[in-house]
Amino acid sequence: NIRVRFCPSPTGNPHVGLVRTALFNWAFARHNEGTMVFRIEDTDAARDSEESYNQLLDSLKWLGLDWDEGPEVGGPHAPYRQSQRMDIYKDVADKLLAGGYAYPCYCTTEELDERREAARAAGRPSGYDGHCRDLTPEQKSAYEAEGRASIVRFRMPDEPITFTDLVRGELTFTPENVPDYGILRANGAPLYTLVNPVDDALMEITHVLRGEDLLSSTPRQVALYKALIELGIAKEIPSFGHLPYVMGEGNKKLSKRDPQASLNLYRERGFLPSGLLNYLSLLGWSFSADQDLFTVPEMVAKFDIADVNANPARFDLKKAESINADHIRMLNVKAFAEACEPWLRAPHAPWAPEDFDQAAWEAIAPHAQTRLTVLSDITANVDFLFLPEPVFDQPSWDKAMKGEPAALLTTAREKLAAADWSDPESLKNAVLAAGEAHGLKLGKAQAPVRVAVTGRTVGLPLFESLEILGEEKTLARIDAALA
Ligand code: GLU
Repeated sequence: NIRVRFCPSPTGNPHVGLVRTALFNWAFARHNEGTMVFRIEDTDAARDSEESYNQLLDSLKWLGLDWDEGPEVGGPHAPYRQSQRMDIYKDVADKLLAGGYAYPCYCTTEELDERREAARAAGRPSGYDGHCRDLTPEQKSAYEAEGRASIVRFRMPDEPITFTDLVRGELTFTPENVPDYGILRANGAPLYTLVNPVDDALMEITHVLRGEDLLSSTPRQVALYKALIELGIAKEIPSFGHLPYVMGEGNKKLSKRDPQASLNLYRERGFLPSGLLNYLSLLGWSFSADQDLFTVPEMVAKFDIADVNANPARFDLKKAESINADHIRMLNVKAFAEACEPWLRAPHAPWAPEDFDQAAWEAIAPHAQTRLTVLSDITANVDFLFLPEPVFDQPSWDKAMKGEPAALLTTAREKLAAADWSDPESLKNAVLAAGEAHGLKLGKAQAPVRVAVTGRTVGLPLFESLEILGEEKTLARIDAALA
């Protein structure tokens, strides 16, 4: 049985890199009918927050990424919040110490810095030099008598560590590049280096899929795993797969602090979960050579970690938007109308709730569905229907009113008043005729009508819009523009 985990630390807002990792783990679990474990790595009380924890849960739910074990659903390895598992880590650390797999290190920060500098200056590896590896009981007592605090360090083996990365193939790390590392702070608090592999072992994780930024911790974890197996705590070393970096603007790594990286931004702009997941799945993976539009179930059916590419992926906002637009088109009209709901209400909608007209909304929705890129754009596209007066955008107004629009508008008003208001084609012919009377093509003739009625130069198909707004309001707005 395949068991994967998604184990974020609850710090800050969720970002796209995190979602990509969650998605790949989830798709891998679902494709293989495995188990998705959701674990919260909240052992850093100074940085973790309950707000961030709640946001993580909420974001995964919004995206539709579910989990089989973890917060809210429980499971055989509960609790799934590391802050509630401190006794377990203490116990494992004791066993590692007793077995000689780890040792207390009394070096002070100043001493470490000094020796690191000296090593650097001499061109030697500058990681921890093993100073406290083999202290005698007398040396330890002497340090303790001095009142020195100690951290606990894991003793790395003296031979190279090799493992086969599911994305990158066989990788070897030599001992000088992976020095002994801390697993407990001086105050006894366990570090990521310990709690993450210990929980992976206890939760019987078979595949660790995570970002490339964590690649350097893998040889340490492999070595720790070997110790845990010898101690009877772990059964076997999981497979590791490191997902490629995501590059943002200027080909720099997309950092969680980049505004572009914030998941909430996409949610607020009205990305559909399916559109966003479709796009994020392309960051390091591909569906097929000639298709990059697909549904989430289609992705799950095809997902294989062996198809993940090691090369950095580029985050392309335009492409994300265009995929999202396609997902909007893929909805049925009813689902589209429902998805728009949040933007038709306060605080997004500028109209009074009582001015909202459900019938007009249902009539315009199909026209909006074929044009939106993100759902939040719906508000500006339909506000002319629900506001007592259109919001005039001054530059649009000035542009449309250049030349002699008053004469055109007067003629258009006359022709529109005589048209058949149950047929957009008839409204179009009215404006076409008005244009002809003034030597203007349809495009030029309809611009002032659009601005007068909707306040904007671009928008949904004009004649359908006029029909839905109705004769009375349309003519009154043209009159107001002429006044
Ligand atoms: N809590 C770690 C993080 O947020 C998890 C890393 C891992 O997947 O091992 O980066």
